[in-house]
Amino acid sequence: MKLVIIFLLCHMLYCVDVDKNTFSNYKDVKTQHLHIEWLLNLNDKVIDGSVEYTFKVYASQLTEVHLDIYKMNILFVYYPNNGQVLKHHVESDPIQKEEQGEKLVIELGQVYKYGEIVKFRIKYQIGEDARALSFMDPSQTDDKKAPYLFSQCEANNCRSMIPLQDTPSIKFTYSATVITQSPLINVFMSGNRLQTQKFQLMNNYNMNSIANVFQFELNIKIPAYLIAIVAGTVEERSTGTRTAVISETKNIEKYQKELEDLDKYVKYLEDYIGEYKWGSYKIVILPASFPFGGMENPLLTFANPTIIVGDKSGVSVAVHEIAHSWFGNTVTCNNWSNMWINEGFCVFLERKGLKTLFGDINLVHVNSQVGNNEMNALIKEFNSSQDDFIKSYASLHPKTENHNADDSFSTIPYERGFQLLYYLEKQINETRFQQLLKDWLQEYEYKSADENDFYRFMIFWLKINLSSEEFLSVKKSIDNVYNKWVYDYGQPPIEEKFENPASKDVIDLVQSWIDGKGTKPQNYQIFDDFKSNQKQLFLSTLQDKNQVVTDAIMVSLEDAYHLSDLTDAELLFRWYTLSINTKYAKDTTNLQKIRKFVGLVGRMKMVNPIYKALDKETATQWYQENYAFYHPLTRQSIENIIKNKTIIK
Ligand SMILES: [Zn+2]
Repeated sequence: MKLVIIFLLCHMLYCVDVDKNTFSNYKDVKTQHLHIEWLLNLNDKVIDGSVEYTFKVYASQLTEVHLDIYKMNILFVYYPNNGQVLKHHVESDPIQKEEQGEKLVIELGQVYKYGEIVKFRIKYQIGEDARALSFMDPSQTDDKKAPYLFSQCEANNCRSMIPLQDTPSIKFTYSATVITQSPLINVFMSGNRLQTQKFQLMNNYNMNSIANVFQFELNIKIPAYLIAIVAGTVEERSTGTRTAVISETKNIEKYQKELEDLDKYVKYLEDYIGEYKWGSYKIVILPASFPFGGMENPLLTFANPTIIVGDKSGVSVAVHEIAHSWFGNTVTCNNWSNMWINEGFCVFLERKGLKTLFGDINLVHVNSQVGNNEMNALIKEFNSSQDDFIKSYASLHPKTENHNADDSFSTIPYERGFQLLYYLEKQINETRFQQLLKDWLQEYEYKSADENDFYRFMIFWLKINLSSEEFLSVKKSIDNVYNKWVYDYGQPPIEEKFENPASKDVIDLVQSWIDGKGTKPQNYQIFDDFKSNQKQLFLSTLQDKNQVVTDAIMVSLEDAYHLSDLTDAELLFRWYTLSINTKYAKDTTNLQKIRKFVGLVGRMKMVNPIYKALDKETATQWYQENYAFYHPLTRQSIENIIKNKTIIK
């Protein structure tokens, strides 16, 4: 208790980081609840939307509410109690319109005072321009029977499907009614699906054209980017007492089998960090164009089918997404320059869960080593840019103002953030750091925070829980590195290699291949016994040394391990990237297989490195070939890659 009081007093003395990626006046007025009503017209790729807002006023006087929107058609705004229509206009800048959208200004027609509640409704329409939404034709689905729709709101994309305060620093509860026009379409959202109809419809509809009405409710406060929807010929299968998998019918049995241990993963994480408070946990295996490995929508994780390998080696993505239930969804970054507050902490917790799952800490260190290799390569790449924004992406505090926050997305907040926490843990030992994290969660439960909040919390915690002598010494160690770790663009101030016996075999084998100059090492077959993450480390270490990987070595590697024909996409994308970087990829080797791969997988982690390795002409050609398949976010990131090729060369 004492800790909490001192901490809160000090907290009030500091000003909190603002979100530079929202046009909303979120300091003056805060969303309490949203009720959404959507009529899905999936054949025409149009959604008719209505939203009822409940806001609380925090300014002394309030006459306008400003919301974020992105390429949507606002029809009208009105008070629900008396039908009074409110004036609205859109403030727009041509560059920002594409990057981050526009400001919707709503004139309230009266003055509201501090503490008062404001309620109004907006009617609007969205279509294919909504960059959060992927509208798919039946031909693009597995079942080929009906259209399919899924959303991806992180980072600032929710504003393209709902006008709202699109900032992770504002949290609210939400409910929704979703009306479908085809009996084939099933709908899930990131909330509890209600068994009976609870909410009255806000609009009149032609009942002859309505097939189903689905309703959802989430009574835990979340930021806008966690609102999610999937609609299609999807069904749910149980994987345990509180977990389930959702997908199209074609592959659902395979997915159910691969994810049969979901209940256990939740338990492993609970054992480290405390109770899972969200109720059920469901994972949707989406079409392959989904741009991420997973997305932690509460109660409804979205995942890419590349996580289903057949040997459960891809399920660490599921563990990661479950870990977000605490870090990201319970304590949330308060703007997108602080994404490591979500991802760094989440990776840290994920690896605690993986320690139980793998039963061997060395295998967890292999994951950290793969992450470290990829982080180091990215830091080097970002630092070589002439663009100060891109340079800043190497830090834990990337610049995002006036840009689409998605541009700064990379593995940096995950691995650099994880390594900072790993370093901090070592300063005070595992048990005490575990308690510190539990207390951090309790203190910031259902709130948003930044790096300063964490630093201040940690220092107060240490002051209270350590002897004064130890406190001074630990604080000194932390102060020596914390700011550099967060804000500097170079390597983290303390280098951690995560060397361990499970990786030594891998690194030694790589060296033997390089020394052999194309002759197979005597023990080359040990590769077949490696776990999937050891194979990833093998390929990532080769990538790191690609300057000395000759064509003779590549030919011999292919002959020994048939790498171009593997089915695990985690390995394929690394081998394919290496193939292009070493110029092994040709029409006579595996170039056409790589070309096929980028048309079947839309996960940015896997296609972006390939596009980066390609020359500009080939990249442009392959991108055009697969444009229709890619998700809007994947398109955007590949376009940036192709654009940067011009800048760098
Ligand atoms: Zn994550």
